Amino acid sequence: MDVVIIGAGTAGLSAAIYVQRAGKSALVLEGSAYGGQIINTLDVENYPGIKHISGFEFATGLYEQAVELGAQVEFETVLQVEPKEDGTFTVKTADNAYDCKAVILATGVRRRELGLDKETELVGKGVSYCATCDGAFYKGKDVAVFGGGNTAVEDAEFLTRFCNKIYLIHRRDQFRADAAEVEKVREKENLEMVLNSNVTALLAEDRLTAVEVTDKNTLEKRVLPVSGLFVAIGQVPSNQAFADLVELDESGYIVAGEDCLTSRPGVFAAGDCRTKKVRQLTTAAADGAIAALAACSYSG
Ligand code: NAP
Repeated sequence: MDVVIIGAGTAGLSAAIYVQRAGKSALVLEGSAYGGQIINTLDVENYPGIKHISGFEFATGLYEQAVELGAQVEFETVLQVEPKEDGTFTVKTADNAYDCKAVILATGVRRRELGLDKETELVGKGVSYCATCDGAFYKGKDVAVFGGGNTAVEDAEFLTRFCNKIYLIHRRDQFRADAAEVEKVREKENLEMVLNSNVTALLAEDRLTAVEVTDKNTLEKRVLPVSGLFVAIGQVPSNQAFADLVELDESGYIVAGEDCLTSRPGVFAAGDCRTKKVRQLTTAAADGAIAALAACSYSG
């Protein structure tokens, strides 16, 4: 195998397309489902050249394109990447070891959790990290969304379409989300913004019944009776398996610039898993192309 790509999100699948089209062979290893984060996005309206597409449709298109071009995709979790003396690598999963000339790390990020008591046991019983996946279970109900980025604001907007009341809780009074999206939700009659506040407790019997929020400035506590809480407070990288292979920054992102080069020759980093300012679909796809061409060139 010429290039092993770890991760089948937008960066990884874009890389696979570019590797195959460069006349080299790509193996994509993915621990869960293909598509990465975009699969949970209802509407994608900022990918140049495509006015509107669902995240699922976008991811499926990428996957099919990579496979039709001859990329091999295996659903296995990578445990380790072992560098060899001749500059090639062995990529190990629980069941297999794959030898390759170059590696692209496209591991993305995973959701950040609240870290509150009962959070884990309430997943599927009122606590969710994906409004597009679970929102429909809360038709006609009162729910809360926690976060101030594009995910939180878009989730809140989506839920206003069929939930009774939506509390949008954010720890500041300024949103990180695009201003246009914030304005869209601000106008919704069934949405209330709870700003400068954190979710500080989950109240439950066998399911979530309410969330406690605490105002950051006044320390005043308020109980919001909701049957669902959608947590959208960003993501964290999960690159610990590669800590001995490449340099990671203090937050766990792979240190790599726009050229996708890591601290180790032959290993490239693409997409949200690397140090970068803008984590978007477009930049993930661009990284996939850059890392693929660099990996092809390294593999000779
Ligand atoms: P994000 O932009 O990193 O926003 C995370 C939000 O959670 C921020 O408002 C942050 O607050 C808050 N937060 C972080 N840690 C927290 C904590 N411990 N407790 C409470 N609040 C916390 O994450 P995202 O919204 O998931 O978006 C990720 C990336 O995907 C972004 O680049 C985003 O633009 C992109 N995205 C794009 C689209 C689109 O273009 N259609 C849709 C979704 C996501 P502070 O603001 O105070 O830091």
